[in-house]
Amino acid sequence: MMRMTVLASGSKGNSTVISSTRTRVLVDAGLSCRELLKRMSLAGEDPSALDAILITHEHQDHIAGLSVLARRLNIPVFFTEPTHRAWVRMLTPRTTMTYAKWLDHVQREKEARAAAVAASAPHSDLAGQLADESRVIAGIAAEAALNRSDDANATLELPVDPEEDELCASDSEPAAQKPDPTYLPAVEYFHSGTQFSIGDIDITPFTIPHDAADPCGFVFESEGIRMALATDLGYMPPNVKAALKRIDVLLLESNHDLEMLRDGPYPWSVKQRVLSRVGHLSNNATAEFLQKDYDGGASWIILGHLSESNNAPELARLSAEQALGGQPTLLGNRVLLAQQAAPLDPITL
Ligand SMILES: [Zn+2]
Ligand SMILES: [Zn+2]
Repeated sequence: MMRMTVLASGSKGNSTVISSTRTRVLVDAGLSCRELLKRMSLAGEDPSALDAILITHEHQDHIAGLSVLARRLNIPVFFTEPTHRAWVRMLTPRTTMTYAKWLDHVQREKEARAAAVAASAPHSDLAGQLADESRVIAGIAAEAALNRSDDANATLELPVDPEEDELCASDSEPAAQKPDPTYLPAVEYFHSGTQFSIGDIDITPFTIPHDAADPCGFVFESEGIRMALATDLGYMPPNVKAALKRIDVLLLESNHDLEMLRDGPYPWSVKQRVLSRVGHLSNNATAEFLQKDYDGGASWIILGHLSESNNAPELARLSAEQALGGQPTLLGNRVLLAQQAAPLDPITL
């Protein structure tokens, strides 16, 4: 037996439960701990039966509730090492200066020195030289500040929700003592391309093209049944096409409709990011994969990570069904749409 329960899918949060007869893992924890527990109970999944949490990549919509949930359930978290490091960096308050701040700091020091020198020897060459240096550094600092604000990924800040920490904190954790946000009960590392097992589920992570430290998708196999997750990818490289062979239940990204994205509300820089080779799969790209490269073996295809601003569920479904319908052997595939706001009914094979 294997079961997939999609708890949430989309840019506001992703999480899916994968179960076998003996083992149960959660892939991504992109909602608050409280919401994840609520959705698990709505879908009939027992959180206390989870054996581990697996993380695809460190974007907010995949890790928002991670530390609180892992501590609450006291279960290990599986990452690649670069993803774990990136996550820790995101949660660690910056004690070091940014480049722009450092330049600013250096500039102020130089100005102070120049002023001191000028006061003691008003006509010395050193004072003029220091003043010139200050102007150059001020220019570099301004440019660094400008470049920083252009970075579309600078929005990846993690909101701290102390209320939720308290509500979700395990009994062993004194509420008064603020826990280290990066503390996890246990961390295990895996490598993309290298199979590992949790209980009776064999897991093969595969690299996906996306703008994160070391993003991956997963194939899960138990008792000969195979389920896969592939969302958050800019395009379909050969290794992903190869990984998605002989899959029985496939959660596949169908992020945006190209025209809706083009005409939609996102700023141009974000549109470019979504469309890029490290962004997200369009309905067209997904349809092309289904038509040309997909082997047609899945009982269920779940379209996921649909954009709320740049897609419509009917468009994503139509596009995928047309792609599948073009091949008579594939008519047995059933297409479902994962949702952002509510869990899907569990799919059991
Ligand atoms: Zn995502
Ligand atoms: Zn992402």
